[in-house]
Amino acid sequence: MTFAGTVHGNTMSGEHGRIRSRYLDGGAVMRRLIAGAALAFLGTSASAQSLPAYDLLLRGGHVIDAKNHIDAIMDVAIKDGHIARVGPGLNSGDAIKTIDVRGLYVTPGLIDLHVHVYNGTGERRSYAGDLSVPPDGFTFRSGVTTVIDAGCSGWRNFEDFKDRIIDRSNTRILAMLNIVGSGMRGDRYEQNTFDMDGEVTAKMAARYPGLIVGIKTAHFLGAEWTPVEQAVIAGTRANIPVMVDFGADRPTRPLYDLLTKKLRPGDIYTHMYSGLRQEQDPRTLGPSKGFVEGRARGLYFDTGTGGGSFKFSLAVPMIQQGFKPDSISTDLHMGSMNSATKDILNVASKLIAIGLTLQEVVADMTAHPAQEIRHDELGNLSAGAIADVAVLSLQKGRFGFTDMVNGRVEGTQKLVAELTIKDGKIVYDLNGLEALPWNAPQGDTSQDSRWTSFPRSPSQPGDSTTHH
Ligand SMILES: [Zn+2]
Repeated sequence: MTFAGTVHGNTMSGEHGRIRSRYLDGGAVMRRLIAGAALAFLGTSASAQSLPAYDLLLRGGHVIDAKNHIDAIMDVAIKDGHIARVGPGLNSGDAIKTIDVRGLYVTPGLIDLHVHVYNGTGERRSYAGDLSVPPDGFTFRSGVTTVIDAGCSGWRNFEDFKDRIIDRSNTRILAMLNIVGSGMRGDRYEQNTFDMDGEVTAKMAARYPGLIVGIKTAHFLGAEWTPVEQAVIAGTRANIPVMVDFGADRPTRPLYDLLTKKLRPGDIYTHMYSGLRQEQDPRTLGPSKGFVEGRARGLYFDTGTGGGSFKFSLAVPMIQQGFKPDSISTDLHMGSMNSATKDILNVASKLIAIGLTLQEVVADMTAHPAQEIRHDELGNLSAGAIADVAVLSLQKGRFGFTDMVNGRVEGTQKLVAELTIKDGKIVYDLNGLEALPWNAPQGDTSQDSRWTSFPRSPSQPGDSTTHH
């Protein structure tokens, strides 16, 4: 795993503090993050003094937190939407609610670096429409708390995407702007090089720092470098990475040149195991020369498995030869979620079946993607961090995993999301770990809303349509 090398080689790191302070000018989502952080660090409100030290305590789980080098049985305490403390033997008397998670893994909330969620416009056969999925329907049930929409919208329609989806979802949604001004609406738009303007795209990105976290180029069939070059202009002006889906394989724009000349350290190559564009060395079956040299100069390699972007005939030998992903993403959309990809834990389990360790796949869904988009406050369980947490079980049995050409690999382990916590509140609970027997006394339910979105007395003030 060469990730550690690329971390330090990333010339665009160290921006975190500045980006974070600029959130104040950004969207409502980011304002909420900051307000929560301020509360957590002050910790002096009147009610906080009379309440227990923690809202929620996850006790006895196996914590995997790559950023903090934790891989051990520990307790995780949460207060005011933030991680209060991680350590052994925390006292359940200090928490409003304690959940026993022995036998389960506790990780930072998963980050899916490549999804398509610009759903709801009504546009047919379009990723700014019917081909995208509504995020909250597919994220929490897989342990995912943050997704990065990879270029469904461009500068022309990003604000519609924000209003329609980002601002109305509970999932934390960040976005990469498509270099095509109209976004991912089909060939009529995506092949139009006249609608690829790096300067205008950078201006929109600059309007939403922290929310627009990258520039995407995708699906291009032409012979020119225009989309890549304009994307790099936008990424350079806005100081954010470029993610490339390199489209059709064209001799006039070789993959080798893309990875060794055109992209910058910190840029991201997605669909790394697709085999559509000479990713693999035909002789060794390992990574092609461009891949090796690209990684050496600090590019990131992302799975983006999608509907047609992951083949075992590449992934197996490349992983055997040590070319592992920097990040595991799904390229989730209406097609991939029903074919080989399914969801991020299925992809992670598939990669475990062909040689990755549990620790590696967790890092690739947490700290690593956070680093790639320079949101280092996400993807870890540091004290003070946003309390996005996934509680996972590693089930044993006979499982099958498939690829884009319907090849099959058998595995004996499968990750399943048991409990998902976002901003300190339970948003998904597969087996009712937090629930009490139905006929047990209710006890004091007055503080439920501090740690769960499933209060035992749902008749609280608010929108009646949410409890249906
Ligand atoms: Zn995609």
